[in-house]
Amino acid sequence: MRALVLLLALSCPALAEVPTVQTDIPPVAALVAQVMGDLGAPGVLLDKGGDEHDMQLRPSQMRALNAAQLLVWVGPDLTPGLDTARQSAPDLQSLALFDDPATLRLPYADGAPNPHAWLDPTNASLWLGLIAQRLSALDPANAATYAANTATAQAQIAAMDGDLARQLTPLTQTFVTYHDAYGYFTTHYHLHSAGGLAAGDAAAPGAARLSDLRAQAEQGQIACAFPEAQHDPALITNLAAGTNLFIGAPLDPVGSTLDPSPQAYATLMTNLTQSLLTCANKP
Ligand SMILES: [Zn+2]
Repeated sequence: MRALVLLLALSCPALAEVPTVQTDIPPVAALVAQVMGDLGAPGVLLDKGGDEHDMQLRPSQMRALNAAQLLVWVGPDLTPGLDTARQSAPDLQSLALFDDPATLRLPYADGAPNPHAWLDPTNASLWLGLIAQRLSALDPANAATYAANTATAQAQIAAMDGDLARQLTPLTQTFVTYHDAYGYFTTHYHLHSAGGLAAGDAAAPGAARLSDLRAQAEQGQIACAFPEAQHDPALITNLAAGTNLFIGAPLDPVGSTLDPSPQAYATLMTNLTQSLLTCANKP
């Protein structure tokens, strides 16, 4: 019997093949890379400095998507452009993490679903397990490796989460960000956000939103304002002009400035923490 199993395994090398995986954004790529470990690395489709809400695939990226077996992504709420692209790759499997019923989902101020859900480490930890489950279904021969890598990555996220919570304790000031992406982070770490200048999809803000925030800043209800790596800082600069608002370093909630690596998720969360903390330590 053993010999027969061995013979079958040898004659069906496809059974033991590690899946080719594409991802939408660097933090999701990092979670997949942690689960895959030494077995492989996923591709990432968001361009350096790109806006996740306006993702358009080039022909070379479209070919990479067509060549992949599995797309691991947040889902259509974050990247509608990728949703259109993936539907023209009929053999591609999809794991839309935000759409899993176990994912913690928060709304934007207007009630629509906020897909920036990786900014809560509880979701990142859950998603590691979902990724391992799907990879193991496609590649059962490596299931034990995926499970072991996942346990290690989940322990690292738990340790990081505790560190960040301690570091963020002094941040009691209210701050405004460029776009309304941070609800998961501010809820999880009990921070005080006045929301985003721009809406959750990063569309330019209307005059009413600008004057409302400006009034809050003039009354001293908001201490700090943070621009973002992918967006022109002029709107934040204009908001702060003539007020005491402290302008912090640009935030990068989607990791679009990071090099792909298994550590990119922890780097994103740590960078975000360090940048926001400048509001607590401002002059
Ligand atoms: Zn966003």
